[in-house]
Amino acid sequence: MKIFSLMAIALGLAGALPAAESGKSSPSFNRAPLQPKPYAELPLGAIQPEGWLREELQRMASGMTGHLDEWYPEVCGARNAWLGGDGDTWERGPYWIDGLYPLARLLDDPKLQAKAQQWVDWTLTHQRADGYLGPVELKPEERTRPAPRGAQIKNAGDWWPRMVMLKILQQHYDATHDPRVVPVLDNYFRYQLKTLPTAPLYAPDNPQGGTYWAAQRGADNLMVVLWFYNLTGEKYLLDLADLLQQQTIPLTTWFENGQVLKLQGAKKIGTGNTEDGPFHGVNLAQAMKTPLIEYQRDGSPRHLAATRKGFAAIRTYDGQPYGLYGADEHMHGTGLDRGSELCTAVEMMFSLEKMLEISGATEFADRLEQIAFNVLPTQVSDDQCTRQYFSQANQVVCSVGDSGFFNAYAGKSQVYGLLSGYPCCTCNLHQGWPKFAQHLWLASADGGLAALAYAPSRVTTTIGGGQTVSLREETLYPFDETVRFTIESPAEFPLHLRIPGWCAAATLKVNGELQPPAKAGSIAIVQRRWKRGDVVELSLPMTIRKSEWDQRSVAIERGPLLFALRVEETWSVVPPAAPATAPAEAGDRTLRECRPATPWNYALLESKLQNLAQGFAVVRSAAAGKTYPWNLAGAPVELRTAAVRLPEWTTPKNHAGCPPPSPVAMPANAAAETIRLIPYGCTTLRISGFPWINEAGSLLKNE
Ligand SMILES: [Zn+2]
Repeated sequence: MKIFSLMAIALGLAGALPAAESGKSSPSFNRAPLQPKPYAELPLGAIQPEGWLREELQRMASGMTGHLDEWYPEVCGARNAWLGGDGDTWERGPYWIDGLYPLARLLDDPKLQAKAQQWVDWTLTHQRADGYLGPVELKPEERTRPAPRGAQIKNAGDWWPRMVMLKILQQHYDATHDPRVVPVLDNYFRYQLKTLPTAPLYAPDNPQGGTYWAAQRGADNLMVVLWFYNLTGEKYLLDLADLLQQQTIPLTTWFENGQVLKLQGAKKIGTGNTEDGPFHGVNLAQAMKTPLIEYQRDGSPRHLAATRKGFAAIRTYDGQPYGLYGADEHMHGTGLDRGSELCTAVEMMFSLEKMLEISGATEFADRLEQIAFNVLPTQVSDDQCTRQYFSQANQVVCSVGDSGFFNAYAGKSQVYGLLSGYPCCTCNLHQGWPKFAQHLWLASADGGLAALAYAPSRVTTTIGGGQTVSLREETLYPFDETVRFTIESPAEFPLHLRIPGWCAAATLKVNGELQPPAKAGSIAIVQRRWKRGDVVELSLPMTIRKSEWDQRSVAIERGPLLFALRVEETWSVVPPAAPATAPAEAGDRTLRECRPATPWNYALLESKLQNLAQGFAVVRSAAAGKTYPWNLAGAPVELRTAAVRLPEWTTPKNHAGCPPPSPVAMPANAAAETIRLIPYGCTTLRISGFPWINEAGSLLKNE
């Protein structure tokens, strides 16, 4: 009875809001006065991942993503305050659901959908009368038993953890059009508009206000407000958007001034709106979308220019060959032994997905694939049961011990475990692959469909003009150069296909007929009346490229993949150090260490680097397309080249240390060997930033 009346109220309120009456939310290319977007997300459920990507998602369902409530019950179990319990009130429960929710929909898995739904239901049915959403901090006298060990129970009123739940509610509405969502968000956003002037995003001394996390991650809040404005057209949301923008770090200005990024060793970044010390790497990944989210409000070209300047500065001061930056947890420079947090990978991916929709700039899709296909697969074990907190570009051992990171976490931040290092990543990693799958296909503003990142999939959706279209995308990309699309239902629409920035000789055929040439870094658009069975074949020749990194080391790339030295692995298990923090029923808390079983200290030869096509042989594995690709056994493609071992390059502390500055002198009695480079995403141990030897110079010196 009570449930019935709550629903009736919800429906009544929803009816009061104009656009919600239509029951349609997406795709939306922005309502005036927002700047129009060229691309928009399709409803959750339109895209079905296939091939290796589907297997990846199924492994997630069998691993941590499908079982975090059971394996990490002290935070994600029934006592979590987002389920009405007396436990964790902060980000980690919503983090998990932000990935579990889309995974459950993509796999059409009712059991996982039910797990995620409990969190949505509790949130939607426990809003405070004034609009506040989510748990509140319990007073000591309200507790009948101690909070679970390891639960975050302070700062429940911080604006930040609510931002994660807003992302979940947006996905839930797009997937279901649940009529409860609109009135709850309307109440919450009106509450924000009323409350933020006196309790802003950053107000450390005000229990009603937020922390620096909220001020640095405010774009997540703003993004959902703009989505809700597109849905409802309520003008107060534009006022709220302006208020949130004023209280969020001004990243466009900071990038323009070069302020954020010269941060190694910096003590302060010059505003009261930030923490002391170097910028936090995950905050930067989340904040990276801030300029373009704000662009939708004012239309200024400075936001895109500042974003590009920001990425260039990251490359200079902290850049790493896999497309992210040294930040273990804080910005820590270009050394190839610096760590990169798993949260940074998944948050940067989500930022890039949103930046791509708003700008249509293919460079963001190139960056998105670079992270998805290189660093993301390495940081989670194949069985999806353990993960790393930090990974390294040159990672030659993963064991308990000092690795020279900014935050050390008792030397356990590099080993694989459920909770090794710090547990944020255990909960946040789940959004990586599902949201990547959800952004493989986008609606285009001209009434068509766009494939701006590539992986095997099928899409069925309604496009502009109300036609239902269905396409299948078959490919072994990123390991293969060909992507084949088959039209499965007749319709007339433009098909948008990204030509990556690294691809100078792309060709496009429709039913075998060559189309006009498409430039690198552009979007090819094929407009026609499609018939069932029409085939579009996109060929993306992958030449080998090199780039320079710390100590003048060299990284080798081919297409979207970074290649790294194949190092055979010896795994061992370490018992958990502090079992007292885990409930008896919790999942496996052992740590997994990995040590090299083959040499790693190789230098490349300059003669091979001078002519990459001749110096590196591409060898395709017979297993390509038949096995799970992201490990040593399954690596679908490898490069072979000659290299020389450097006996002086050893492992100080627990890591490879910096490679010696290049060019390196040829060691005495050196003999060239053939080495195998495999995709970075297939490795656990590796060298990806190689020193190199100038053989001619060395010979002269020897004479
Ligand atoms: Zn994390």
